[in-house]
Amino acid sequence: MIEIRSDVLVIGSGIAGLSFALKAAEMGTVSLITKKQKAESNTNYAQGGIAAVSSPDDSFDLHIHDTLSAGVGLCHRDAVEILVKEGPNRLKELVHIGVDFTTNKGKLDLGREGGHSRHRIVHSHDRSGSEIERALLHAIAAHPNITVYENHLAIDLVTEHHLGEKLAKDTPVHCWGAYALDVESNIVKTVLTSITVLCSGGLGQAYLHTTNPSIATGDGVAMAFRAGARIGNMEFIQFHPTTLYNSGSPAFLISEAIRGFGGILKTKNGEEFMNRYDERGSLAPRDIVARAIDTELKRKGDEYVLLDLRHLQTDDVKSHFPHIYETCLTKYKLDITNEPIPVVPAAHYSCGGVLTDLNGRTSIQNLYACGEVAMTGVHGANRLASNSLLEAVVFSDRAFRDAQHVLETQRPRVPDIPAWDDSGTFDAEEWVLISHDCREIQEIMWDYVGIVRSDLRLERAQRRLKFIRNEIENFYKRTKVVEGLIELRNLSTVADLIVRCALMRKESRGLHYTTDYPERNDREWLKDTVVTMWE
Ligand SMILES: Cc1cc2nc3c(=O)[nH]c(=O)nc-3n(C[C@H](O)[C@H](O)[C@H](O)COP(=O)(O)OP(=O)(O)OC[C@H]3O[C@@H](n4cnc5c(N)ncnc54)[C@H](O)[C@@H]3O)c2cc1C
Repeated sequence: MIEIRSDVLVIGSGIAGLSFALKAAEMGTVSLITKKQKAESNTNYAQGGIAAVSSPDDSFDLHIHDTLSAGVGLCHRDAVEILVKEGPNRLKELVHIGVDFTTNKGKLDLGREGGHSRHRIVHSHDRSGSEIERALLHAIAAHPNITVYENHLAIDLVTEHHLGEKLAKDTPVHCWGAYALDVESNIVKTVLTSITVLCSGGLGQAYLHTTNPSIATGDGVAMAFRAGARIGNMEFIQFHPTTLYNSGSPAFLISEAIRGFGGILKTKNGEEFMNRYDERGSLAPRDIVARAIDTELKRKGDEYVLLDLRHLQTDDVKSHFPHIYETCLTKYKLDITNEPIPVVPAAHYSCGGVLTDLNGRTSIQNLYACGEVAMTGVHGANRLASNSLLEAVVFSDRAFRDAQHVLETQRPRVPDIPAWDDSGTFDAEEWVLISHDCREIQEIMWDYVGIVRSDLRLERAQRRLKFIRNEIENFYKRTKVVEGLIELRNLSTVADLIVRCALMRKESRGLHYTTDYPERNDREWLKDTVVTMWE
């Protein structure tokens, strides 16, 4: 058996995992496992930037107000205040480690995105995420206390379950690390630690059309759920309104900042339509824009709507959005300064996830969750654009400080943990089943659990998912673990959790819109949906 031991285990190398690891390395040894190459993450694809109050005409109150207003009554106010007030200091730390944010006359250049009442998006042109990832990885590489394990896929969290104990609803569960598959050698390693931090990102791959790269299969939520953690608000899936039509998977994102910069949405025959849906027009928040586009497409039977930039200065468009301009021109033969961009919505961000307190603690002892995998309460029923990179740095910092205190005052003892047991399993040859099941889940989620839902559609999705999940569980129990099967199992779990939460919420709010309950119901539903393995 191969055993890796350290003070802290971080699962995931996006902004949350790297930020946590860098700080944790100052107090002890850190194992950071990541399932593909270290830069591969949702973070790496972020274009717009990171929201933080940094100009004299902005204020904490305004940013708090915008965040609460996007979240439609479900944001946890205490979490939002922390997010906004601690944000500027975390931003300074990113600058300090060398993130090259775009400046204008010596000051940070601030973009504006839908739902923000001020220019407050700090960015690195339109490749903010990859620049943040570059700088963090550079700092990580220089730190002797951090060992990065690429191509190591966490399979399951190590808990009492692996000591042969049955997990019970009201008995505390402890986490002592994770089993991880070394994808290159196909060996399952046992990674044991006092503190484990889930930073495994989102789950966009549960949907047929998504902006998320292939890593986003909801592994963290699924692992935490199986370990007994409380999971919340999974119904709130954000669909990005504007991805380039027909650009493959992941869909190429046309940043919201383009609408902030003056881009106008039009139907295929050139009619501006957003003012019919919201007084903010093309600058309305994402959920409103995505639903408006969905309605227009269904009404007209069109495949896409248009995002028009032709009235803007060509040089300005090129200099503000060099990545989008170049990619559209070279990869898709589309000159966005001369032709309107055909766009469609795609699954983009999960507002729900593993429930945490204000210090990143989950309901499982010694297990923290940060970044997109977590539900801290800051997004409520809808995330305000560019608040997620901010959430990752703010709450990973708080989780670090809490974990530091735990390690210094009451370091958890790790019991003897058995090696991964795959006796009685065999090497299967029917791997084509994995891709078929995966596609089926994605289609079900897209068709029945998308932008507009109904009980009928959700129940239909639930029935079909149940059948597929049983099939996958049977296959999983009989087969030696491989990457695709682990991810498929997790996808089927998170798909089911999304449907379960969506069925629970008998109202429409934020990102959850159902034709059966089209109105918001504050009397009964001003609360989170919470699920565990016992309910
Ligand atoms: C195209 C796009 C544009 C975006 N633009 C913005 C923006 O402008 N501003 C903003 O605030 N947000 C934006 N977002 C959202 C934001 O990028 C993400 O929410 C954020 O980067 C999540 O960071 P994270 O560290 O939580 O997860 P990620 O960056 O996704 O990192 C997750 C990591 O976990 C690893 N991992 C997953 N499962 C396992 C496993 N089982 N074992 C081991 N490792 C695992 C992955 O390989 C990856 O390294 C965008 C997202 C996308 C997809």
